[in-house]
Amino acid sequence: MIKGQCLCGGIQYQYDAEITELAICHCNQCKRAQGTPFVTNAPILRKHFTILTGTPLQKAFMASKNKRRVFCSNCGSPLFSQRIDRPDEIRLRVGTVTEGRIPKPDYHIHHDSKAAWFDLDGAETCYTSGKPG
Ligand SMILES: [Zn+2]
Ligand SMILES: [Zn+2]
Repeated sequence: MIKGQCLCGGIQYQYDAEITELAICHCNQCKRAQGTPFVTNAPILRKHFTILTGTPLQKAFMASKNKRRVFCSNCGSPLFSQRIDRPDEIRLRVGTVTEGRIPKPDYHIHHDSKAAWFDLDGAETCYTSGKPG
């Protein structure tokens, strides 16, 4: 089981399954949404994900037509993204996880927009998939 929360703790969640996949996304939207050179996302099943507290604090921003980026309206923590055409899956921002096992990253995506100033120290050899961030 996985537990997590936003920075202020107003939103707390639980995931009643294991995280089995981890992606590092270098796309420009993720960089700006997170304020970091990349974001680390776990694609997880929506049906096992529960917001325990703070549902009214959730706010979603549509940076593109097909994707909701959900964050805490009090502290700004990004929590997950969800593609409109794939309602069964969300992409959890694993920096918000407080409890439970997170595997090592499996792959990088959107390498073409990787921050030039950030050295991946050889991790670039990870394969790039076409999966969305
Ligand atoms: Zn918060
Ligand atoms: Zn991205």
